[in-house]
Amino acid sequence: MPSECALCRSDKSKIISQRDRRGRPLTTKVCLSCGLLFSSPIPTDEELVHYYTKNYRLEYKGARQPARRNILRNFRRAVGHLRQYPEIWKGSGRVLEIGAGGGEFLFLLSQLGLEVQGIEPDPSYAAFCRNEYQLNVEAQSLQAAHFPPRSFNRIRFHHVLEHLNDPVKSLCRIANWLTDDGLLWIEVPNIEHMAQSKKPLRRSHFHVAHIFNFTPYTLRAAAGLAGLTECPETKTLCRGQTYAFFQIGNKQPRSAIEDSEHANKVMRALEGAHLASGRLAGQRAAGMKLFKKMLQTLDEIWSVRKFDSPYAVGQHAFHELKSSWPL
Ligand SMILES: [Zn+2]
Repeated sequence: MPSECALCRSDKSKIISQRDRRGRPLTTKVCLSCGLLFSSPIPTDEELVHYYTKNYRLEYKGARQPARRNILRNFRRAVGHLRQYPEIWKGSGRVLEIGAGGGEFLFLLSQLGLEVQGIEPDPSYAAFCRNEYQLNVEAQSLQAAHFPPRSFNRIRFHHVLEHLNDPVKSLCRIANWLTDDGLLWIEVPNIEHMAQSKKPLRRSHFHVAHIFNFTPYTLRAAAGLAGLTECPETKTLCRGQTYAFFQIGNKQPRSAIEDSEHANKVMRALEGAHLASGRLAGQRAAGMKLFKKMLQTLDEIWSVRKFDSPYAVGQHAFHELKSSWPL
């Protein structure tokens, strides 16, 4: 049976890869009508719930609890994000994070005095958020969560959408929880950036947990189908990226999503990355990236030694943030 595209509903697709990034079997298709990349077959709700409550963190991060070094890295990233968009988060009211992970982002917001709440499918990570930072984080999947309509002024949906089996349905649910003037932050990996990064050691860009691989275009198309439109105030900062703030807008019709030119561009980028994979320039770029990553890891190992608990890392990050936070 042909797979139907979750965005434009076209059944015209082409297999672009049959391996994941570790070389294991994984079929990835590109929709020839809109350029969405998706795994085939798409896992069912039951399969996803089982994977995320039991296997995901252990398989992906190798641990049931966040490692101290990852905590430091996530706090640094969260501080970076808040410094970039202080006007959006300052005094923003009720905040929900879907996929709260280790709780770093919510902890910083709670320290800023905001009313925060989170859901996280992995029970041990949710318990970590509650025990370490006293955050209101429930062990729950998006599919199982229920909130009254228009409950939240801000929602953060960070590196989660690519893991779900129906992006438009998921976004419709979330849009319903947003207040009329609320904002939703979505961020997903950018498959176009990955294709350009020319990693010679990697045979494939695809990850078994990432059911959908978005481009800046397909992310905005998914949001448009769910009645979400990009926030004009941050549009310039987020141009050409697979992250943006969205607000309630008009629902786009599916016919508006088709763009075979975009689909061709995505295919060319991925095929180009494959062809470039043996080139010396690609190897040099990959070597430099690996070197930078090693330096970052060493810095994290060194920096985290100063702290005796995750809470202490969080307090330090909060003081750094506060020094530049608008009053
Ligand atoms: Zn499509």
